[in-house]
Amino acid sequence: MKTFNTPLGEFSVEIMGHASLKILWNNRVIYVDPYSEVADYSLHPKADLVLLTHHHYDHLDEDALKHIVTNKTHFITNLGCKSVIKEAVVLSPGDKTKYEDLEVEAVYAYNIVNTKEDGLPFHPKGEGNGYVISFGGYRVYIAGDTEIIPEMESVKGVDLAFMPKNLPYTMSDDMFIEAVKVVMPKNLIVYHYFELDIESIKSRLPKEVELHN
Ligand code: ZN
Ligand code: ZN
Repeated sequence: MKTFNTPLGEFSVEIMGHASLKILWNNRVIYVDPYSEVADYSLHPKADLVLLTHHHYDHLDEDALKHIVTNKTHFITNLGCKSVIKEAVVLSPGDKTKYEDLEVEAVYAYNIVNTKEDGLPFHPKGEGNGYVISFGGYRVYIAGDTEIIPEMESVKGVDLAFMPKNLPYTMSDDMFIEAVKVVMPKNLIVYHYFELDIESIKSRLPKEVELHN
């Protein structure tokens, strides 16, 4: 658990593995992309809010959700998850919604360079979401499955960023470092990785960015 202070009080984050996060804030339990391969969700508290970035099996996982969802669970997802999560509030990049005092904005997450054998990107533009959650102005960027993209330049004033690093689905180490230099978060957590040479990443980060892995 890592704890961060915001104008809306502190929250703590548990990095469950892969792209899965558990955020505890104000007696609320918030999950991002819960994935049963990385945790036994029957051992975790029920969800007040679930954010899903896209429909891929490692992000929309009904085996994980069945343990944490109640009839009170609020969902914020991309359009592609709506066929499974009927009650979801759907956001497309640029859309915003509120959950209690939190502001949640969807941002772009997609591939430009990395494509499947058929030439189509693993993550086409506009299909999946990243999210920026504002805790009273303390901005948490959950990048989703993305490469470095021009829209990262408009994700401003990030206090804490979760950014992915694995090929071929998201970013190489080199691209990851370039993306961090665009976003320039005050605090950074690498997620959605297969392997992580933390000392190498650390040595290449701008000194203003504090790494929390
Ligand atoms: Zn994906
Ligand atoms: Zn993924």
